[in-house]
Amino acid sequence: MHHFAMKRGEMVCEGVPLGRIADAVGTPVYVYSHATLSHHYGVFDRVFSGTPHLICYSMKANPNGSIIRTFTNLGSGVDIVSGGELSRALAAGTPPSKIVYSGVGKMEWEIEEALRRGILMFNVESRQELETIDAIARKMRRRAPIALRVNPDVDPKTHPYISTGLKKNKFGIHIDQAIRDYEWAARRRHIEVVGVDCHIGSQLTEISPFVDAAGRVRALVDRLIRKGLDIRFVDIGGGLGITYEDEIPPDPRQYADAIAGAFRGLPVTIILEPGRVLVGNAGVLLTRMLYTKPSQEGAGKGKKQFFIVDAAMNDLARPSLYGSYHAIVPVTKRTRRKVVADVVGPICESGDFLARDRELPAFAAGDLVAVMSAGAYGFSMSSTYNSRPRAAEVMVSGSRFEVVREREPLRDLTRGERTASFLSRRGRTT
Ligand SMILES: *Cc1c(COP(=O)(O)O)cnc(C)c1O
Repeated sequence: MHHFAMKRGEMVCEGVPLGRIADAVGTPVYVYSHATLSHHYGVFDRVFSGTPHLICYSMKANPNGSIIRTFTNLGSGVDIVSGGELSRALAAGTPPSKIVYSGVGKMEWEIEEALRRGILMFNVESRQELETIDAIARKMRRRAPIALRVNPDVDPKTHPYISTGLKKNKFGIHIDQAIRDYEWAARRRHIEVVGVDCHIGSQLTEISPFVDAAGRVRALVDRLIRKGLDIRFVDIGGGLGITYEDEIPPDPRQYADAIAGAFRGLPVTIILEPGRVLVGNAGVLLTRMLYTKPSQEGAGKGKKQFFIVDAAMNDLARPSLYGSYHAIVPVTKRTRRKVVADVVGPICESGDFLARDRELPAFAAGDLVAVMSAGAYGFSMSSTYNSRPRAAEVMVSGSRFEVVREREPLRDLTRGERTASFLSRRGRTT
């Protein structure tokens, strides 16, 4: 469900025509619906209302401060994966007591900063990380609250790049070895064992991997409690999928029932780390058609077209990186005539595409196009490759819209760069 719709021949976000945003802010621009964000958070929160729980929005999906604030205003915490995310989360008003910190490669300065701020817990991914956290906490005379991220070895049946809960993945500690590390951690004076954590992957469209993982985690939690460990939090990660094309992900209620059911009767708070499911369908990437041209392959009327737009793989990497599908929709209704086309950007790579061999309306130069479901892993994975300034971001609420991140100014492309002193300051032509 989302608040992007055709109204009188034009696509609007809530009460704002997308054309107005493009005129005011330019393209490419990400547009987020505040109503959709709030709605998604509300649904997710409500389905867990029968269970003590804390939603920690996985901010790597979209770390814009206005997005984080939308969720923290509704009571959300965040799941962070770096010191940079910690700094952004704090700037957006997230209470440290609602921050969980995941990731396989936490650096010392990041651990120190998180400890200093007093986050809820570290989701620890290896024995060495545990030792490092213990040493840093000792130096700082603190106790570090930790959960071990266990790898339940279940197949999430998603894209290999975003599956994380298999034995062969770099994430977590094998669930059968976890007991040993828990026993070690429980003996350290500067570590406080508070939970168990697991995250098996992203864009899951079936319920069974969640059920399998939760069952294995439950068995571990039971053993740990029997050993006398004070497990207060069970963090079950994120990963619930969304509809990009024709996927039918589990209903949030079904997901909540499966998870709450697995931990019934335990005196624990369940932590959830949804990312994509909260923001994915709440955003579009608005782009303008620059040129159209026929493919050099084939001949005749059925010949494939190239639609060249002003957004590229640096703005939205998912199609190039994972072969992901994003619907491409005209912002103003036009010709019913369909053609088969690749929608590509200006970047000098053949891997730079937003859609391939797609049946689309016969767009013309100047048309505005919405790339749908771009709210998650869109802007957050963007770069300045080809020295393209990063896109602007806009948030809509009702009939208002505001720029929540300006288009990157050209001067920022060289910010921090210095000309080496042994190079002439003036360019030479000989
Ligand atoms: C990426 C990630 C999430 C969020 O995944 P979604 O598929 O966006 O819900 C949650 N937890 C961890 C540890 C992650 O790495």
